[in-house]
Amino acid sequence: MTYIPGPHGNSSPDGAASPVDVVVFGSGAAGFAAALAAAEEGATVQLYEKSEVLGGTTAKSGGVYWIPDNHLMREHGIEDLQDRAVRYMARVSAPDRYRADDALLGLSHWEYDLLTGYYRIASEAVEFLDGIGALRSTIETALRFPDYHMNLPEQGGVFGRALCPADEHGRPAGGDELIAQLAAAAARSGVRVATRHAFVGLEIDDGRVVGAVVRDLEAERDSTIRAELGVVLAVGGFTHDAERRARHLPARVWGGCAAGTNTGDALPAFEALGVPLHNMDRAWWDQVAIEHTRVGATETRAGMWVAPGDSSLIVDLDGRRIVNEKQFYSDRAKVHLGPDAPELLVLVFDGRTEELFSREPFAYPLALPGEPRSHLVSGESWQELTENLADRLHSLAAVTGGARLGADFGANLVDTVARFNELARAGVDSDHGRGSEPIEAFFTGEPRAGGGPNPVMAPLRGRGPYFAVLIGLGTLDTKGGPRTTTDGQVLGGDGVPVEGLYAAGNCAASPSNDGYWAAGATIGPALAFGYSAGRHLASRRAVETDSRMREVSR
Ligand SMILES: Cc1cc2nc3c(=O)[nH]c(=O)nc-3n(C[C@H](O)[C@H](O)[C@H](O)COP(=O)(O)OP(=O)(O)OC[C@H]3O[C@@H](n4cnc5c(N)ncnc54)[C@H](O)[C@@H]3O)c2cc1C
Repeated sequence: MTYIPGPHGNSSPDGAASPVDVVVFGSGAAGFAAALAAAEEGATVQLYEKSEVLGGTTAKSGGVYWIPDNHLMREHGIEDLQDRAVRYMARVSAPDRYRADDALLGLSHWEYDLLTGYYRIASEAVEFLDGIGALRSTIETALRFPDYHMNLPEQGGVFGRALCPADEHGRPAGGDELIAQLAAAAARSGVRVATRHAFVGLEIDDGRVVGAVVRDLEAERDSTIRAELGVVLAVGGFTHDAERRARHLPARVWGGCAAGTNTGDALPAFEALGVPLHNMDRAWWDQVAIEHTRVGATETRAGMWVAPGDSSLIVDLDGRRIVNEKQFYSDRAKVHLGPDAPELLVLVFDGRTEELFSREPFAYPLALPGEPRSHLVSGESWQELTENLADRLHSLAAVTGGARLGADFGANLVDTVARFNELARAGVDSDHGRGSEPIEAFFTGEPRAGGGPNPVMAPLRGRGPYFAVLIGLGTLDTKGGPRTTTDGQVLGGDGVPVEGLYAAGNCAASPSNDGYWAAGATIGPALAFGYSAGRHLASRRAVETDSRMREVSR
């Protein structure tokens, strides 16, 4: 038996827990889906969660899961054909390689298999969860929730994919409700759940994963647990591991809203096994207020889904607009990637946005009533705002590496605002295309009185107060890890599954690469591939029983 060490050192385990069929690490969407699928097939399941609370990033999330051709769409008579849905995912996932006339649409075999597999498995997973009473879904919000690339011909004008959990009254709910429902179902299905227990390493026998080493974080004690059928790693990405961020990600990431416990704990075990890691430089990107992050404390409440409000813009440290502020988060945040890309940008808005939009659900980083406001820099005039922003940057020199405003920031900002106001009055952002995708208005909220013809642009007021927030690159979480089969099996260096080892959610490589299909494009695959991993594991019991029977009868 070989012990493959994980993230917490090389000490040998000093005890053994009673064996089960399946051991799952991580209690987000992926972990619970795997546990439930295996348990419902009759497997005994132990689920370990490192944190003292269940749910990880999933519990903090909006709880939306993007499920093509789901049962509720069918009930509503909405057709969502495989060919179109897969083409849409393919084009967004590999925009430079997409080829409409190619049998694999220009994708690798692995990407194509996972995208076509996703189309098939995602709806099955959600129907399964609904069928066992583990997750009630509603299509109510989905009927008006645009995908993020509605303008692509492959999208085809389809609505209804972005499902979310329904609370006991049938109302749309968020990630906390999603986890509450899955956790309750897991308890009913006999899944054993332990919090404050962390994955530490794998037990390998003859090339096959036969168990894991788990650390009891209260007792500070390691033990082994035998997994007769296999182990599922669903421990999220590595957003909160500074060393991994610096090693793998292509630009400085200030922090992110992934659960603070997501520190890439599965990666050392994959590396020790020689499993190739893929898409390690990719993430579900967003932007965060840099003052919400600190060295060693990188977890934020949320990310900036869109620049909040209508009278708001983003400028660089020279006071110039460089991006469509309303582009959805992951694509907008790519403004921080590339050779000369800025590490820091400034969100600028006026009293109108502050007064009218603070309570919008997607208004981060505006401060909710009662929330700390120290990350907001303010000034009664543009000049005062510029001076205060320069002071703020000075006070942050140790964390920014001495970033300063350009000498002409103040003058440029006045010109930039004048130009923005002109475009807002005209209703067409000929500079950056603001308002061109339906998702921009959806995230901004209902247009307010006094705006312009473009619902996501309004002229900034001629009088203060004005506000600024320093923003930088963040993640919802990373999306690199081992490639897996559609059954969640981890693929080894030879492209063959490592027997007994499964990964799902943000600790596995996403076939979406640097693309983001729509709201729910991370929880959807976590549920789908978690489910298929659990189901595949449980099916191994039949295979193993068969082969044992053959051994005995020989
Ligand atoms: C504010 C916010 C809103 C979002 N909204 C949406 C949305 O509406 N739709 C969408 O698709 N995505 C959304 N996302 C992203 C989404 O929440 C995540 O991508 C998704 O939930 C990841 O699921 P997961 O199961 O892979 O990981 P997680 O939910 O992060 O679960 C991983 C779990 O593993 C645990 N863990 C870590 N290390 C160990 C270890 N060593 N041993 C045991 N356990 C360990 C963690 O503590 C965590 O509980 C949002 C994110 C945020 C922060």
